[in-house]
Amino acid sequence: MAINSEAQTSEPLVAVVSGGASGIGAAAAVALSARGVHVAALDLKPDQVAAPAVGIACDVSDDVSVRSAVTEVVERFGGIDIVVNNAGIAAQGTVADNDDDEWLRVLDVNVIGMVRLARAALPHLRKSPAAAIVNTCSSFATIGVPKRVLYSTSKGAVRSLTLAMAADHIREGIRVNAVAPGAVDTPWIQRMLAKAPDPEAQRIALDDRHPSGRLARPEEVGEAIAFLATSASATTGTILAVDGGIRALRL
Ligand code: NAD
Repeated sequence: MAINSEAQTSEPLVAVVSGGASGIGAAAAVALSARGVHVAALDLKPDQVAAPAVGIACDVSDDVSVRSAVTEVVERFGGIDIVVNNAGIAAQGTVADNDDDEWLRVLDVNVIGMVRLARAALPHLRKSPAAAIVNTCSSFATIGVPKRVLYSTSKGAVRSLTLAMAADHIREGIRVNAVAPGAVDTPWIQRMLAKAPDPEAQRIALDDRHPSGRLARPEEVGEAIAFLATSASATTGTILAVDGGIRALRL
């Protein structure tokens, strides 16, 4: 099958968004819903998913849970056209700081979690005339930042996963792309700032680190995800920076 193109279907598209109860995933759900897509938000906290997205309980670190959530989505909506692999967890420290259990836990959620959801959804994506996967990567995949060795490694893997999957699936009509945000003003960043000795000063420093002078808003990343999922019909294997210029610019 050739690369998919827009408007080949009159049925509403169906998307699954992991981590769709909060932050970037919730914003992606809103942006996709605004485009007429039916959205199932797969999350540990399905009760916190905002309508019109439908919350479905799912732990991406558990293959049985992922398969059962995908089955539930297909039974409810009739198929899956879009996968937004977004659930992720943080880790801080140098290579000396995180023990094996933490390495395995973070890679399990941030990397293998995306593998599990893509793998379970693939048979359904193959039936879609407009199939797309969008992974949430990070600017940390390509920038060395102190004390983020485990988290950055996980996002480097997401970058490679995206490119390799894009190559594997383009000839069956499935596009695979990623967004690479800089810091985004979500509960994730708010939790991190709350732990700082001076949260206000830390927030200003974080804003200043971006050439744009500010963090991105979750809606800005959600729009980029929705664009890659529904409109970018000739785009695959692309890592779209949504980072206020932090990776590419030196002022
Ligand atoms: P968030 O903490 O606001 O939301 C994360 C969501 O993922 C939560 O709803 C949580 O319940 C869910 N989740 C966590 N573990 C899960 C699991 N095992 N199974 C299912 N759901 C799970 O975070 P966010 O800032 O919106 O981050 C979302 C993604 O964006 C992550 O992959 C993160 O690495 C990436 N990212 C965030 C930033 C940032 O600055 N916020 C920057 C770059 C990349």
